[in-house]
Amino acid sequence: AAADTEALQAQLAVQGVHTLLVQFTDLHGVAKGKFVPLAQLRSVLLHGAGFSGPSIAGTGLPRTGPRSDYWARGDAGTLQALPWMPGVARIVGDGFVDGAPFEACPRQVLRRAVARLAQRGWTLQVGIEPEFFLLKTVDGRWHPADDADRLDKPSYDLKSLPRQLPFLHQLREALQAAGLDVLQIDHEDAHGQYEVNFAHADVLASADRLMLFKLAAHTLAERHGMVSSMMPKPFADQPGSGMHCHVSLWDGEGPDARCLFDGAADGGTDGGHLSPLGRQFLAGVLLHSAALCALAAPTVNSYKRLTVGESLSGTTWAPAYVAYGPNNRSALLRTLPGRFEWRLPDASANPYLMLAGLVAAGLDGIERALDPGPACEDDLFELPAASRQERGIGVLPQSLAEAVAALRADRVVASALGETLMREFTALKHDEWLAYARHVSDWERQRYAAAF
Ligand code: GLU
Ligand code: MG
Ligand code: MG
Repeated sequence: AAADTEALQAQLAVQGVHTLLVQFTDLHGVAKGKFVPLAQLRSVLLHGAGFSGPSIAGTGLPRTGPRSDYWARGDAGTLQALPWMPGVARIVGDGFVDGAPFEACPRQVLRRAVARLAQRGWTLQVGIEPEFFLLKTVDGRWHPADDADRLDKPSYDLKSLPRQLPFLHQLREALQAAGLDVLQIDHEDAHGQYEVNFAHADVLASADRLMLFKLAAHTLAERHGMVSSMMPKPFADQPGSGMHCHVSLWDGEGPDARCLFDGAADGGTDGGHLSPLGRQFLAGVLLHSAALCALAAPTVNSYKRLTVGESLSGTTWAPAYVAYGPNNRSALLRTLPGRFEWRLPDASANPYLMLAGLVAAGLDGIERALDPGPACEDDLFELPAASRQERGIGVLPQSLAEAVAALRADRVVASALGETLMREFTALKHDEWLAYARHVSDWERQRYAAAF
């Protein structure tokens, strides 16, 4: 192993790498890390880079003693030179505390989920589609970076896209050079909003890559005088940013793997898109969707995106109702041949946690052979409330507080996260909610100050 590490180090040095960026992700889904000279590679792989545990959001680690150190132990398979930071290679770290895997490290949580799949010989493939805004601040106020033409519906707009070419080309080149499989880039539905689609990959690799995408987008946008914002709903009168995931389960891994979701065309409820096993997985995701909200839509602002009813800007294509349907973009889950699109997540989510939650929910569906019930082929944004109620179509939590309460009450998802993580995550989110609930806004003064 020592010889392997030396060979790896020499290979990186030949590529011009002199520094490792040892990176991990905190409970808020924010990338954290350190620069470590390449010469330390062996120690990064054996022990990790050391951090002060209590300084990392959501570890709950003490300030003193052996459990106060958080080690991000490098996963050699993630080593990747970063084209936008010449000389630097990122390596993703797994959390270790006092020599043992740290149970509340989000990547360890997803590893546990992957291991549960592996016990059955399965792998999960996920293709992620982050949407984000390019913003700027003028006199302390946030605006779309490019608001030259306030088109009514800027989806797929080709006027603003060329203006952002310098950034978008750089971003694509950087992502491709870093091994990410970019499928498409477009202008989305809101002013200054863009989307990058990635090819599906193993669930852990997809989460790692999403964090790399965020790092690249932040750094490169800044170099162009902009902020790449992953905030779910920056503007009330514009659609928000989702982070759809295309999900499929496979038997085995690699080129010989077989898709277990491939529809049997057995006249199933979803137009023959999914196999019976696929429909069970989907049923689990539907059943646990309220708890999954806390993980996939984890901020106060996330719920401004997921609101029910007519929004200020008409259809925003963000889900609000717990339903699935064949190629139905108004539903929480859109089935397609051999996969489904999970439309809940937004880009403020910690990808490791939300995907671990997804696996737990899906496996629960399979273990209990759940039935998702009839598919919904209607446009849910138009469907009258009475028809929804008749069919038992529920509503997603409409606030972070509601979502966190649902997570607390969901034993399947909570136990996948583990006790420590549940305690720390719900405490962080409770504080976030309280800070928001106690804030008195301009909207309230406008509405109430002189009203009564
Ligand atoms: N921006 C929408 C959302 O918040 C999704 C738009 C789309 O379908 O791509 O989920
Ligand atoms: Mg989109
Ligand atoms: Mg999509």
